[in-house]
Amino acid sequence: MLIYDLDLPTLGNLLKQWNEPAYRAKQIWQGLYQHFYNSADQFTNLPSSLRAKLSTNLDFTGMTPSLVQDSSDKQTRKTLFKLPDENLIEAVLMRYDPDSGSARGRRTLCISTQAGCAMGCTFCATGQMGFKRHLTSGEIVAQVMYYANLLHQENLPVTNIVLMGMGEPFHNYENTMAAIDRLNDADGYNFGARRFTISTVGIVPAIKRFADEKRQVNLAISLHAVDDEARVEMMPINKRYKIAEVLEACEYYVAKTSRRVTFEWALIHGVNDMPEVAKKLAALLRGLMCHVNAIPLNPTKGFEGKGADRERAGIFKETLEAGGIPCTIRMRRGIDIQAGCGQLAGESLK
Ligand code: SAH
Ligand code: SF4
Repeated sequence: MLIYDLDLPTLGNLLKQWNEPAYRAKQIWQGLYQHFYNSADQFTNLPSSLRAKLSTNLDFTGMTPSLVQDSSDKQTRKTLFKLPDENLIEAVLMRYDPDSGSARGRRTLCISTQAGCAMGCTFCATGQMGFKRHLTSGEIVAQVMYYANLLHQENLPVTNIVLMGMGEPFHNYENTMAAIDRLNDADGYNFGARRFTISTVGIVPAIKRFADEKRQVNLAISLHAVDDEARVEMMPINKRYKIAEVLEACEYYVAKTSRRVTFEWALIHGVNDMPEVAKKLAALLRGLMCHVNAIPLNPTKGFEGKGADRERAGIFKETLEAGGIPCTIRMRRGIDIQAGCGQLAGESLK
């Protein structure tokens, strides 16, 4: 059993079965999430008999980093993890440090929620590889703690976590939320809900459920097209949930949470980066509390399209903003190590 799969009450029950005093659970919890221990022998505050029990009964990593790649500017690191069943997943660290070693700046983790993805978006490397399996909540948590530990050695905290790695988080809803709750625990890692962002392909019932739960986690919707004909070509899920339904669910989310929605837009040259498209998008989103995050498409093996260049991306942003919708163009990070959005496909690295 992966130790990160346990929530605090479950860990408490396990220790009870082992006839350990109740306060041990909290000690282990703090060791894991506040001191970033990743092996039983680091828990020097525990009796050695208990350390031995922990070590024989629980797995402290659950995954082995089998490939680590740094971008040429050292700001982006991608780690390929091998899971016990040989499936591969990836998690990326993106640094935005004003000066190195400074505690200021941002360090964003991009975490996977599934091995592969069942949604089949044509432009996405993960979609191209198909679905392998859901990750457990502990496997989602473990990716975060791996990087948290790494940064801790530089005395730096993780500042943001985006669930934008491999997989569709709303297709693995329970485990994704359990992972967020575990990382959010005030007695543990205490990572603020507002510093998480979930990105979804647009699974309408899950958006509504998420809204009803009134979570403080940020919501991003991958839109990429203004009409159903174009969107269904890129994103098969659009057969099931049309753009109008997705936007209606977003309105519901804003009404329930008073939180702004982000729309993700992969700018594809000559496909969805034209000013006419930006105008239509502005009209479509008008009145909704939102903003658009546009990123030039990262090229993948299985997709013909190419990313918008800087100039066309700039015009897209200006047109959208003239239409009243705030827009940011995200820079492509980690392109040289295939760590850009949609390039995460562990399998190709086997
Ligand atoms: N499954 C979720 C989250 C993972 S994908 C989702 O689809 O939203 C994270 C983001 O990367 C999504 O916005 C997705 O549309 C985008 N993306 C996928 N492939 C891409 C590519 N080749 N270039 C740019 N963005 C891409
Ligand atoms: Fe899955 Fe997101 Fe890729 Fe679509 S874009 S295939 S939903 S990971």
